[in-house]
Amino acid sequence: MNYNKKSIEDIDVSGKRVLCRCDFNVPTKNGVITSDKRIVAAMPTIRYLVDHNAKVILCSHMGKPKGEWKPELSLKIVAKRISELLGKEVIMAADVAGEDAKAKAAQLQDGDVMLLENTRFEKGETKNDPELSKALASLADIFVNDAFGTAHRAHSSTAGVADYLPAVSGFLVQKEVSIMGKALTNPERPFVAVLGGAKVSDKLNVINNLLEKVDTLIIGGGMAYTFLAAKGYAVGKSLLDESKIDYCKEMMAKAEAKGVKLLLPVDVVVADTFPDPIDGPIEVSTVDADAIPADKEGLDIGEKSCALFASAVKDAKTVVWNGPMGVFENPTLAKGTIAMAQALADSSATTIVGGGDSAAACEQLGFADKITHISTGGGASLEFLEGLELPGIACLEDK
Ligand code: ADP
Ligand code: MG
Repeated sequence: MNYNKKSIEDIDVSGKRVLCRCDFNVPTKNGVITSDKRIVAAMPTIRYLVDHNAKVILCSHMGKPKGEWKPELSLKIVAKRISELLGKEVIMAADVAGEDAKAKAAQLQDGDVMLLENTRFEKGETKNDPELSKALASLADIFVNDAFGTAHRAHSSTAGVADYLPAVSGFLVQKEVSIMGKALTNPERPFVAVLGGAKVSDKLNVINNLLEKVDTLIIGGGMAYTFLAAKGYAVGKSLLDESKIDYCKEMMAKAEAKGVKLLLPVDVVVADTFPDPIDGPIEVSTVDADAIPADKEGLDIGEKSCALFASAVKDAKTVVWNGPMGVFENPTLAKGTIAMAQALADSSATTIVGGGDSAAACEQLGFADKITHISTGGGASLEFLEGLELPGIACLEDK
């Protein structure tokens, strides 16, 4: 996949109708936005378009209305928030690409901003229905994709519309693609990848692809136990995907053949059971990775592993991290994840964090501003690391 894509700075938007796909999938409670982070993140692109005299037509999905018109998932509250941040009226369409949207789009003056209704109110959206894509395209002269979180989906408003309009990236997508694209095509070395999280099976293809690229692969979190089992260790009641033990053996052999250093935990923090509630009090002890008692469950990496992993990160020039090292939602079991976040924060490497929970962990634990790039897309960043082509990016014009 070509990561060298045109952005809004590479084309003339003045006087043009610009359809800009954003990620306004914000959390709400009782009709109130509980975090406007995603709206704030979209503002640089919106302001650029306004300042350059475009006629701006914003669109996004919110939640999962599944083709039904659900008033509680209307984007009206988003229009209001953008309007407050912009200090300027945002015209709200009553539909996605129907009569009202068409009429309002036709009347836009240079620098005006309008917002379409929730794209997933239309059944065609998630099916990438050409009829909807055409209707969306008919509103505008240019398509801008600034929603990385949905870039791995081929939907009408994320990719289909680009069949009918010149398409470029907004600033958010541009940043994602340039930083992660560089890491995957031409990384500064040593290149270290850190994987964790709950399941090996989720990240199988990521491991396989990263082994082609990295100098060191660190595996922690719940996925480490299937690797430890593949080494012949007993893992007690820890997370184990028995069907993937052979796969892990293959990956260890591949790492060895390629000269990639594969690091696994050398000690783990264990408890009698998984904490319930997840952040409730829990009694733990630390054991060596080859001495996990049959009645214990591994829930975090131990101190020796923290030091081992941190020293591998210390000399790196590029670090990609996806998946927490332990059950970080529990303060007693967050130490491995904190140590890893600290190692990335202390490192002079280009550091990239992807994955919803890993990004949340970095933010929650206060490391976000010391990381080069925290990806806004969980699934999308994972597919990026897998080396897959993302429809919402592939559809953009090459530079
Ligand atoms: P991301 O969203 O960053 O890609 P995942 O969704 O794959 O990460 O995994 C995150 C989850 O993994 C967290 O909820 C965390 O509690 C869980 N987890 C981490 N280590 C373990 C472990 N040893 N046992 C069980 N669950 C774990
Ligand atoms: Mg997750």
